[in-house]
Amino acid sequence: MSERVKPEKIRCDACPVLCYIAEGNSGACDRYANHGGALVRLDALTVIERSDPRLVPFMEGASPDWDGDIVKGERPFITAVGAGTTYPDYKPAPFIVSQQIEDVDMVTVVTEGIFSYCGVKVKIDTDRHIGHERAVVYVDGEPIGHMMTSEYGSKMLSLGGVDHLTGGTKKEGRVTCDALLRLCNREAVKMTIGEAESATSIVVQAGRAPVINGDEEKLMRVGCGSAAIGMFAKQWFDHVDEVVVVDDHITGVLSEHQAGKMLDVPPTGIRIRGRRSTPGRYFQVAEPGTGWGGTDIQDPLVILNDFKSDVAWPGLRLLMISTTGEQYAYFELDADLTPQPTEIPSALKTTADRVSENCEPSLCSVLFMAGAGGSLRAGVTENPVRLTRSVREALTHVSCGGAQAYIWPGGGITVMVDVMEMPSGSFGYVPTPALVAPIEFTLRISDYAALGGHMAEIQSVEEVTKAELRKLQQDADSHDPLARRNFRWPREEER
Ligand code: SF4
Repeated sequence: MSERVKPEKIRCDACPVLCYIAEGNSGACDRYANHGGALVRLDALTVIERSDPRLVPFMEGASPDWDGDIVKGERPFITAVGAGTTYPDYKPAPFIVSQQIEDVDMVTVVTEGIFSYCGVKVKIDTDRHIGHERAVVYVDGEPIGHMMTSEYGSKMLSLGGVDHLTGGTKKEGRVTCDALLRLCNREAVKMTIGEAESATSIVVQAGRAPVINGDEEKLMRVGCGSAAIGMFAKQWFDHVDEVVVVDDHITGVLSEHQAGKMLDVPPTGIRIRGRRSTPGRYFQVAEPGTGWGGTDIQDPLVILNDFKSDVAWPGLRLLMISTTGEQYAYFELDADLTPQPTEIPSALKTTADRVSENCEPSLCSVLFMAGAGGSLRAGVTENPVRLTRSVREALTHVSCGGAQAYIWPGGGITVMVDVMEMPSGSFGYVPTPALVAPIEFTLRISDYAALGGHMAEIQSVEEVTKAELRKLQQDADSHDPLARRNFRWPREEER
């Protein structure tokens, strides 16, 4: 009877966790596996194919039996999605790929970076109050970030970062990493903002409307209350004597606003509760909340004091409307100058609908932000600071999964990228915890040599595209990391 042979485990060294993986199993991050004793990256390398009319004339250049092979008709861009990592840092990037673009010899260095310093900035299009600036954002009871500023029609969150990933408890790091991963891969994440009694529940998903306290947000406001008065003053003043646009930031009043003055709207004797900023513009008419215009009110009349009896008149027509036009109410003053709810005339209803029509759909936007550290840069060159300088001089173009990356000014290579522009499933994680994200550096081969690149590791694009790939078609409007306009070298130096 033959002795049962225990299968050998192999060690993955693609991150500091150094998993021992048995035959047929995958490691802790599910990105690497042991297939027959070989360590394999489980996701296929992703290539973006882009038509290049300069390379192959359409139709007449294609032979009748053309099989659509990308090297004949498409200009491939090798992304780092599925490429693998450079850990433990002395290794060259997994793919260093050369190709000729517009007669210039280019090289793209691709790596899946392990980002310990990373997070997301989230923009949530809503007028509703979801939390005060600096309020803590929780997932599963763990703090993962905080509220930042309110922007024009949106609220901003800063989530993740090294303090939450590694500076707190183990659970905090794990929950933060998982939330970041799901957000970056465009999945929905349920969060709570603020403390117990005043907490807001919110579901955030890139490219989708936020769900706030169970209600899906629909519209982003047309503008602040003051802007709305200016935008619609002409359409209102034929049909109504006074308009109040209720807004948590600036509540606008037509008869007092400069727009009303220009149209000779007479004073109405209206009196607003709140702090007057400039004529027709009021701050703090109510508390922030999820009611009209991001305030806590459900009945707009609560922001009015009594009308001035020597100015107002019985029958005065008053429209009150929120900044998205989703809430509106029409009143006429009775003999005591008290506003009485009255059916809105159809012409005025049309203007209320016009406000809604001019609002954009409410969305969540998720921008991944990270710093390219030592491991990444050493994978590109033996002299990493030269890469930083080359990026700064726009000789090296940085992309993430082929998407345009914004590079922050100042030192280092700190990138920010819209996850909606990246291929699906671009992000992974390692249990250290850290996110794994694709990053590509594209430059001329001559510049690559000058910065001390790993020249011996360069492969032609034809070699790389022979392997099993995940191919994505890109439309002409998408960012092209290989486009000449990305680089600042003078034209006479191109060859
Ligand atoms: S966590 Fe993933 S990358 Fe890290 S050692 Fe394990 S299998 Fe390899």
